[in-house]
Amino acid sequence: MARSALVLGAGIMGLSTAWALRRRGWDVEVVDQDPVPNPRGASCDHHRLIRHAYGGAAGYMRMVDPAHAAWDLLWRDLGETHYVETGVLALASARGTGWMTESRVALTAHGMPPADLDAAAIAARFPMFDPAGIAEGFHLPRGGVLLAERILAALVRRCAERGVAFRRARVTEADPERGWLHLDTGEAVAADMLVLAAGPWGPRLLPGLAGRVAASRQIVLYLEPPPALRGAWADAPMLLDKGTTGVGFYAVPPVAGTPLKLGDHRFSLSGNPEAEPREASAAERDGVLALAAGRLRDLGAYRVLGARACYYDVEPEERFILAPLGAHGVVMSGFSGHGFKFGALLGLAMARALGDPDLAAALPAWAAGQAPPPPGLLADLA
Ligand SMILES: Cc1cc2nc3c(=O)[nH]c(=O)nc-3n(C[C@H](O)[C@H](O)[C@H](O)COP(=O)(O)OP(=O)(O)OC[C@H]3O[C@@H](n4cnc5c(N)ncnc54)[C@H](O)[C@@H]3O)c2cc1C
Repeated sequence: MARSALVLGAGIMGLSTAWALRRRGWDVEVVDQDPVPNPRGASCDHHRLIRHAYGGAAGYMRMVDPAHAAWDLLWRDLGETHYVETGVLALASARGTGWMTESRVALTAHGMPPADLDAAAIAARFPMFDPAGIAEGFHLPRGGVLLAERILAALVRRCAERGVAFRRARVTEADPERGWLHLDTGEAVAADMLVLAAGPWGPRLLPGLAGRVAASRQIVLYLEPPPALRGAWADAPMLLDKGTTGVGFYAVPPVAGTPLKLGDHRFSLSGNPEAEPREASAAERDGVLALAAGRLRDLGAYRVLGARACYYDVEPEERFILAPLGAHGVVMSGFSGHGFKFGALLGLAMARALGDPDLAAALPAWAAGQAPPPPGLLADLA
């Protein structure tokens, strides 16, 4: 008889795992409190970035090649591709910030040495950036934009076609020891295995995460470039701007009919995804504009189309938590603002691990970026 799984959360982690479990023959039901794709979820936006440049986090850099392979597997299964390759431009306002140097070292060891660019070369190639204040930069041709909302919608469709059930309800309590979810309808539902992928709601729902994972309110801005710079942006790489401190902001170019987006790399480490307004305040919006002000030429000429808040689930060392929780449960958490790119990969890995105790034992260290994958974990990508 097929084994059964209840997946709490229809973000990229829950949906990818549901998709992968169903491929392996599990009976799967996904439970979410909101309509799916869920605009309040951490996964739901026009875009999410995938790139190898990862500072000193070489374990995650090495997971990016299998992550691309996992997306390719999903595109084949869907019969459509929701990825646009843009390349990566990393800039810093001071020389030798740890992130730039560590990225160069790790990328070179990985066989992907980035091309160094000075301010003059950047000005010539990318006229939307002001060369004044650029201390160093590099470019990588690989990397790009995952069209997140379209991926979520396609996964929901594909899962439903394959027989995954979807239930709209709020989980009031999870009992991973017994494999039960208690719902706000008063019902309790049970399965052989619970997959708890509650995103930034996780720390409030699962006592084991509180103190280890924090919800973090983050602001993004959508912009329309002025006419003179639209051509430059149409063909632009993603921008990882490390400022003077190695943190800074990022820009997502306007690909495939989506708007240009700016986001803040800094963790706010505060906020409640359930209770707070999703519109950004004027002060929050201006905070992101201030980060970009020295870098984007003519920033005042850009039209702000909108500004909204989204939430990360931050683990102090930005390490993912894929771990057992009780005899009949696993948790997927701690994605710290960089999990989406690994969604398909982590779903496939989780589905393999749930059928194999040796893989399950090795999963947490690999997912935390601290160990290579155990043999067989990524067999779907062979
Ligand atoms: C602004 C922003 C930019 C980002 N940029 C990138 C990027 O460029 N690249 C990258 O790789 N990653 C990025 N990330 C991170 C990435 O998007 C997240 O790590 C990932 O989407 C987390 O997915 P999830 O499935 O864990 O959570 P979610 O998408 O939040 O899904 C969790 C789901 O669980 C449901 N849920 C929670 N509690 C309950 C309950 N009690 N009952 C029922 N349902 C419940 C919620 O309704 C929600 O739908 C970014 C995140 C944000 C917010």
